[in-house]
Amino acid sequence: MLVLMLGGLFVTTLLGEDRSASASAYPDRPPDAEAAPIGTPPDVRKPSNEFAFMRTQDGSSDPVTYDPCVPIHILVDPRTSVDDGMRLLEEALDEMQDATGLAFVVDGLTDDPRPSEGTIAAADGGPLPARVAWSDPGTDESLEGGVAGTGGSVSVKRDGHWWFITGTILLDGPQLAEILTGPRGWQAARAVVMHELGHLVGLNHVETPGQLMQPEGDESLTTWGDGDLTGLAALGRGKCVNY
Ligand SMILES: [Zn+2]
Repeated sequence: MLVLMLGGLFVTTLLGEDRSASASAYPDRPPDAEAAPIGTPPDVRKPSNEFAFMRTQDGSSDPVTYDPCVPIHILVDPRTSVDDGMRLLEEALDEMQDATGLAFVVDGLTDDPRPSEGTIAAADGGPLPARVAWSDPGTDESLEGGVAGTGGSVSVKRDGHWWFITGTILLDGPQLAEILTGPRGWQAARAVVMHELGHLVGLNHVETPGQLMQPEGDESLTTWGDGDLTGLAALGRGKCVNY
């Protein structure tokens, strides 16, 4: 059985409690921000507590989330992309959109260097688009040791509440190309992207069989489990930023 290491994850906190963000440190209101959440997370058919959040609000078990009133923009660096890598990502984003109600917009391709860690605003002042980078272990140490991908987001505090602003997913292109040659290769590779998107929107690992957020997967596990779905629905019900 092919075991996929999905181990890498990170969460960056930009501004700690002792350096609370002033409103001016927060990105400007994006032009596509809406007055109400863009989508609605589905009712979870079999709620389960087999999930964990990457970050919670100070003194609370409520998760840190993205602003559901704003689409999450994504730029893709295709340097080591597998064949049909954009379709793989778009299918994974569809799964994520269905599970959270969050909206995703792929802005296109880039070969610009990744912005330095902690950058949260784009040149126009709005939130920095998230980056999905097709990379390899020679370029990114975090992909060494058979790790297929990593994912995480940057959170910033505004008016006493934390939000994820932007994030990064790294995918090991050569390893995913290998996975694609295996049994149910397409589904297995898509599951890796879904797992990393899970980290991006705020799910941490759980050690429960049947959840896509296990730190190690295999090609038999290609769809969300009940715990994943419960956590993802919660992550889609975050507060909107009051710009
Ligand atoms: Zn992981």
